[in-house]
Amino acid sequence: MSILFANVDYIAEDFSIKHGFVLVEDSTISALTEDDPRANPAFSKEGVRIIEGKNRLLMPGLYNIHTHIPMTLLRGYAEGLSLHDWLNTKVFPFEELVTPEMALPASELAIAEMLRFGVVSFSDMYNFNKERAEAVRTSGIKANLSYGVASFDPEERYEDMPQKAEVEELVRTYHNTCDGRLKIDAYVHSEYLSNPYIVEAVGEHAQELGVHTHIHLSETQSEHEEAKGRRGGLTPTQYFDSLGFFAQPCTAAHAVWTEPEDWQILAARGVSVAHNPCSNAKLGSGIAPISGMLAAGVNVGLGTDGVASNNNHNIFKELYTAALLAKARELDASLLTPTQALALATVNGARSQGRANAGLLKVGAAADLLLVDTSGPWMQPTHNQLNNLVYSAQGTDVYMTLVDGKVLYEDGEWKTIDVERVASQTSKAASDIARVL
Ligand SMILES: [Zn+2]
Repeated sequence: MSILFANVDYIAEDFSIKHGFVLVEDSTISALTEDDPRANPAFSKEGVRIIEGKNRLLMPGLYNIHTHIPMTLLRGYAEGLSLHDWLNTKVFPFEELVTPEMALPASELAIAEMLRFGVVSFSDMYNFNKERAEAVRTSGIKANLSYGVASFDPEERYEDMPQKAEVEELVRTYHNTCDGRLKIDAYVHSEYLSNPYIVEAVGEHAQELGVHTHIHLSETQSEHEEAKGRRGGLTPTQYFDSLGFFAQPCTAAHAVWTEPEDWQILAARGVSVAHNPCSNAKLGSGIAPISGMLAAGVNVGLGTDGVASNNNHNIFKELYTAALLAKARELDASLLTPTQALALATVNGARSQGRANAGLLKVGAAADLLLVDTSGPWMQPTHNQLNNLVYSAQGTDVYMTLVDGKVLYEDGEWKTIDVERVASQTSKAASDIARVL
């Protein structure tokens, strides 16, 4: 199946707006032209779907590089608490009652929400591996699913934990399956839910297996400062680095309280930072210093975090919030331009997941695309399409989402997910749990 986007405005590789024709064949973008390819007698129209581009903008798909999809069960469950209280008094007791039968529809619901808002790939840290992988497989979305360790015991060893064999099994079963859509990463939850033996061992294991890693890093001020006390003055970044953990590509979520010396390490080791501006603001954690990180050369992408602390899987919200908060934090309106913000949401996300040739509109790149409806009153007039996209567009302006050239969402219809069913199953599961707590 081929798709020709005809007479369409699109965001080119250099983030300029171009107008023309974009041809998708199988899973890749095969042509970007000014002239109509249909004028060429050699062009076969057979099996080509034509999509007219009037009042639409074609752009690279969005990446959500930090979330916890089964936590969709907790959307709106606990509000007004700081991270520590929220986790210990509300989230952990709720999560203990989640079953695999509940995690599957909750994961599918999360994916439906992401596809609705133009997300083509996500990085997820959680358990319920079979269910998450199944939801990725059947939905057609791309994902880096991470699994690993959260430990409260300072003496516990990775070798003695079931996770080691489970990660191996996961990598064997799922890594690079679904035509490469599904990847497995290894996680260490954070500095505070691990110990040096575990950090070192998981890092080595990831190296052996050739997979990426995922961590939470310096999310709150107390976490960052207490870590220094525990680790002989080392910040969490310096601590992970001292244990060799960054030898493999890593995505570090939050980095709100990282310091300038940390940014040098993150940049030098090629660690990607998942910036979650909405979740960080909502939990009162702070505003991550992404302008400093970007200036230091750190690859920064965007994440929603789980919707228990957001409360959407909507990268358009993160784009807008990131662009505003970068300026508010440093009292400088010139920071995080629309072009930079869009790079965070697209190509930087692809890079963090180890997906080459993705996140940009160019010939040969993966056809992970979204078509945005630009006809809404809030999108007029158009002095600058990128400005409108970052500051005015709504997630619901997404008309169509394609992954590997396949249409997964179009004009109110999900092609691979029965949203009514998964929403009602998730709602029932959520109220069953809430009732007994
Ligand atoms: Zn998280």
